[in-house]
Amino acid sequence: MIETNDPNLRCWLDEANDAACDFPIQNLPLGVFTRRGEDTDRRRVGVAIGRHVLDLSIAWPELCPDLAGLGASLFSQPTLNPFLASGRRTWTLVRNRVSRWLRTTSAELRDNGELRVRCLIPMSETVMHLPVEIGDYTDFYSSKEHATNVGMMFRDPSNALLPNWKHLPVGYHGRASSVVVSGTGVHRPCGQTNPEDAPAPNFGPCRLLDFELEVGFITGPGNELGRPIDVNHAHEHIFGMVLVNDWSARDIQKWEYVPLGPFTAKNFATSISPWVVPIDALDPYRVRTPRTEGDPPVQKYLDGAWDWNFDLNLQVGLQSTQMRERGDAPAIISRNNFSLMYWNMCQQLAHQTITGCNVRPGDLYASGTVSGTTPDSRGSMLEICWKGTQPLTLSTGEQRKFLADGDTIIMTGACHRPGLPRIGFGEVRGTILPAIGG
Ligand code: MN
Repeated sequence: MIETNDPNLRCWLDEANDAACDFPIQNLPLGVFTRRGEDTDRRRVGVAIGRHVLDLSIAWPELCPDLAGLGASLFSQPTLNPFLASGRRTWTLVRNRVSRWLRTTSAELRDNGELRVRCLIPMSETVMHLPVEIGDYTDFYSSKEHATNVGMMFRDPSNALLPNWKHLPVGYHGRASSVVVSGTGVHRPCGQTNPEDAPAPNFGPCRLLDFELEVGFITGPGNELGRPIDVNHAHEHIFGMVLVNDWSARDIQKWEYVPLGPFTAKNFATSISPWVVPIDALDPYRVRTPRTEGDPPVQKYLDGAWDWNFDLNLQVGLQSTQMRERGDAPAIISRNNFSLMYWNMCQQLAHQTITGCNVRPGDLYASGTVSGTTPDSRGSMLEICWKGTQPLTLSTGEQRKFLADGDTIIMTGACHRPGLPRIGFGEVRGTILPAIGG
């Protein structure tokens, strides 16, 4: 076991030892923050611990005078990119040091009240920013249950998966510029639609606006152009994971996607959670990638890393404007688990780079919509309401087939199992704002 994952470690900040806490000492996710009221050009790197943010731009030089320069170059920065580019050896060094400062057995920060006040900030007094300047964003389609549901709805129920699906991780290159951090409002997009397959399309605000529950990973130094990443070494290129909401305009998508795939139906916004959870912290929750008898063998370059799925519980909440005004809690509209993904992130990275395509620090790769095998574990409105044929009824009596203006989608995720610490992701939240123009 990695030393920083020892379930017996305790933090002197007692709230972090609470079994329900997303951010115990075994997690230590990194994010980018400012204090409330500060200018955004003061953005810097912090670690989530309990209900606090540990400011690494202050703590590191004080507690690691031997490596003070490293702290300035990695943590007094508006994004995690320099840290991501520094590579796995530095990631481990940082994780080990931060873990030691926070243990009950360590007094250097605990007993330094002056330093603690400066570098340990309640989350309620912070603003989280996009953690990474994302150079490239790829979205996969790796949940067999999701691909099967979509295939059943739009094509042939008896032949739902296309012939390529079990042979390669299907994906497309997405739009990086519109990836936003949790809490950012999302305007309903406008675009072309042709719901009745008429001779000419319509233009206007999207009417079938949807979310997609996904999990993303963020890469480190990457590979040289022309040199593929070996599937069995792919994990070395991955720093950590975030929750992803891949907002989707289904009516726009239906009209535009032939023959080159998703375009404007997906490019208006993608929301991610602010804390990047290190894959090292998730190591105790690794599980085997599912295959059953009858699944075809895979090409050699994809045949490896068969134990890089994660037992990660996921949940989606929906709260309408009326629910918010009445004080009704969000309706939980999906509960599922990331472990069932047919293709894992190592195989995805091997596939993306098999041509020699290069990966850079801070690229974002999303899993594709995560759906389970039961009706309560579907990862999009399209599937939950089965193409609008099974509307949801909310606590206010309102009905939903897709998302309405004012609706907030809240996705949460956490690994938890008896005897192991909870490794939480926090949340990714976004509210639909009215269309502009149209
Ligand atoms: Mn997607």
